[in-house]
Amino acid sequence: MATPFSGTQIRQTFLNFYAARGHQILPSASLVPEDPTVLLTIAGMLPFKPIFLGQRPAEFPRATTSQKCIRTNDIENVGRTARHHTFFEMLGNFSFGDYFKSQAIAWAWELSTKVYGLPPERLVVSVFEDDDEAFALWRDEIGIPAHRIQRMGEKDNFWVSGPTGPCGPCSEMYYDFHPEKGDEHIDLEDDTRFIEFYNLVFMQYNRDTAGNLTPLANKNIDTGLGLERMAQILQKVPNNYETDLIFPIIQSAAAIANLDYATVDETTKIALKVIGDHVRAVVHMIADGIVASNEGRGYVLRRLIRRVIRYGRLIGIDREFTPKVAEAAIALSESAYPDVRIMERTIKVALQREEIGFLKTLDRGEKLLADITEQVGAGGQISGTDAFTLYDTYGFPLELTEEIAAEKGLTIDTVGFETEMEQQRRRSQLAHTTIDLTAQGTLDHLANHIEQTEFLGYTQPATNAIVQVLMVNGKPKQLVEAGTAVQVVLDQTPFYAESGGQIGDRGYLSGDDVLVRIEDVQKESAFFVHYGRVERGTLHTGDSVTAQIDLACRRRAQAHHTATHLLQSALKKLVDDNISQAGSLVSFDRLRFDFHCPRPLTPDELQQVEDQVNTWIAEAHKAQTSILPIAEAKAKGAIAMFGEKYGSEVRVLDVAGVSMELCGGTHVSNTAEIGLFKIVSEAGVAAGIRRIEAIAGPAVLEYLNVRDAIVRDLSDRFKVKPEEISDRITTLQTELKTTQKQLETAKGQLALAKADNLLAQAEAVGEFHILIAQLDGVDPESLKTAAEQLQQKLANGAVVLGSVPEADKVSLVAAFSPAVIQKGLQAGKLVGAIAKLTGGGGGGRPNLAQAGGRDASKLPEALAEAKKQLQSGLS
Ligand code: ATP
Ligand code: MG
Repeated sequence: MATPFSGTQIRQTFLNFYAARGHQILPSASLVPEDPTVLLTIAGMLPFKPIFLGQRPAEFPRATTSQKCIRTNDIENVGRTARHHTFFEMLGNFSFGDYFKSQAIAWAWELSTKVYGLPPERLVVSVFEDDDEAFALWRDEIGIPAHRIQRMGEKDNFWVSGPTGPCGPCSEMYYDFHPEKGDEHIDLEDDTRFIEFYNLVFMQYNRDTAGNLTPLANKNIDTGLGLERMAQILQKVPNNYETDLIFPIIQSAAAIANLDYATVDETTKIALKVIGDHVRAVVHMIADGIVASNEGRGYVLRRLIRRVIRYGRLIGIDREFTPKVAEAAIALSESAYPDVRIMERTIKVALQREEIGFLKTLDRGEKLLADITEQVGAGGQISGTDAFTLYDTYGFPLELTEEIAAEKGLTIDTVGFETEMEQQRRRSQLAHTTIDLTAQGTLDHLANHIEQTEFLGYTQPATNAIVQVLMVNGKPKQLVEAGTAVQVVLDQTPFYAESGGQIGDRGYLSGDDVLVRIEDVQKESAFFVHYGRVERGTLHTGDSVTAQIDLACRRRAQAHHTATHLLQSALKKLVDDNISQAGSLVSFDRLRFDFHCPRPLTPDELQQVEDQVNTWIAEAHKAQTSILPIAEAKAKGAIAMFGEKYGSEVRVLDVAGVSMELCGGTHVSNTAEIGLFKIVSEAGVAAGIRRIEAIAGPAVLEYLNVRDAIVRDLSDRFKVKPEEISDRITTLQTELKTTQKQLETAKGQLALAKADNLLAQAEAVGEFHILIAQLDGVDPESLKTAAEQLQQKLANGAVVLGSVPEADKVSLVAAFSPAVIQKGLQAGKLVGAIAKLTGGGGGGRPNLAQAGGRDASKLPEALAEAKKQLQSGLS
């Protein structure tokens, strides 16, 4: 292993390894599971649970995945053990009634030792105490010494899907960081020495209500290998956090805190690790559509974000920082999970909102908590009522209060807290309200008193407007000062609010000495809520402001939106008239179009579609919108877009001669404004649904610039013109192959040169001399020459040589002198017999014969057998 595996390579290597062994590679399922009994996806097998339970047939007999997982039960271990995360990736191979135990073990071993290159003597395995079959397989098939196979009890090594149902023993593989500690006391619980990295579950029984186990007719395999743990092992770093999968996030947080990870104390390191772990988790959670709230998954998300912020404060960060750190996490994940980049803005806005909200409450809450702890005194207990006030009013998760209290040596009356919580639940049921901090509540309340927002943005980029409602974290305010995140409702606005896939506008609100930057606009019933931050001055309810959108951003969104319509028309025209939209996203930097189609598009079709859209752009078609009664729009053949609700009057976008669709979005007025269109990718997202990602307008130029820079870099490095790069790589690959061949030959010759020295090893048996030896890397032809020469140099000699000329090949040769043959021994018979031991065969003349096999690990055994036969035949 010259350069260590990167995280990306470890993931891809695993998937490729199993794909080459008949497994279908499937994409990671969402962190939001289909299974309603669990909050978050906790293991690679979860998406397959219905198959294992027999509720759904398997589409493929074998599958392999890299699954995003979140385990909240490991949250306390994060940063403290070297190996636990909330978010991690589990690599898995699965058999649905297909291959079973011995094959699963053989592949896990081959992958670990041959592909990842872990030294076999560094591996220890565990099996379930009653699973003699697994024990025997590891010992006899794989060759692990018995004392490095540990039997473990039901708690650790027996997997159950529930109180009844499929279940079975597991076998775990561990890596030994300190083999020098010796094999006398192997304690797998000692995590300074061992790390579990791969768990194989052999689902072989069904458990009935009485607890009886009956063998399953179709046995299954479910496995999990921790990506971050394998990275820790292969990258030779002291913990998962310092692998290339996470460390850049830690460095980003450390840079913001002005710290150098290498020199900080242990507590600070833990804080940085928690931040690194949690930021990765929240980025993926938000990308999978989870929204921070006070219940369920939303609460897990909020709790993680709040922990990040609190640990940030612990290491001296006192300003907004989570969106910046999230950037590092997005950059790390985007190649394997492109959604995180697509959702970048949503992620950052969500984090910013949470952070701004939490910092405020944290400040006040921390003051309150300081007062409380002072009153309680050392060793005391914080009352349930106080903990609840901190939770309810100041947004402190109970766990956070517990953590802060524990740092001061205090405990919390959690029972009292639960009682308060229960009363609160009852109160809110009575009042028909929920603990909801979003703007919705306030606006519903105000709905009867204020005008609904009038949208002017189809025709105007700017307007005067009155601030009708001003909110901070959804609570109405009379005035808000600079530096604060706000939500603003105006009487009229040019800002488009996110809908129909198109994201909200950006821009500014400005007035006498006040400037508010707007970063997102959302519709809440009839109101447009502008999310932003007061940059300068003070904003008051009732202020008169100028609302102005960022036209450059708007134009980019428009280009992408109209291009989406052209794309749909081109697909219908060139691929299949039945294609219909399943979803879409239109942003400033790209568009995403999901559509119903039972098969992937060919590269040819994609090119035609792209060309068609560009032709329509070049032809400069007029694009006009009009408001029509819905019946009239339908009569004209307008197509309805997915996910939109329509009133009696609808807005129709008519791209002259190309398409007519119902759409509330904003568009270019002539297709020529789009400039250019480029398809970036096409892939399946769900059964029968394909996704095209494309770019339009200036985004195409940016994309091409990046590509161009890559090509220029390659051309510099290879010192050839761009059009010659491909040939150059072919040449280099050929050269590399030739060099490797030459190296092999040289190795073989070197081994041959040493063959003469072997004479000294010849053993006397009566008046005969026998010589048995292994010469690695020698090709069969040279091996034969060597055997003949050696035999001629020995008086009355018998020579048997073995070699491993290349992986998975064994070569054997025997050369006997006439005196040996007179004793009734034959070279042909002997090599034929011992070759069988290596999984092969062969034979030849009595004096000289050759044979081949496959299993190199059995070569020593075969040679020992040859020795035995010669000794008994010649004495
Ligand atoms: P441990 O005992 O170390 O917590 P586990 O027995 O809970 O591990 P499994 O449920 O068998 O682990 O999960 C399969 C694999 O997933 C493990 O071998 C490990 O590589 C990885 N894994 C499990 N939990 C975590 C976690 N919290 N963080 C990172 N990787 C994990
Ligand atoms: Mg665990």
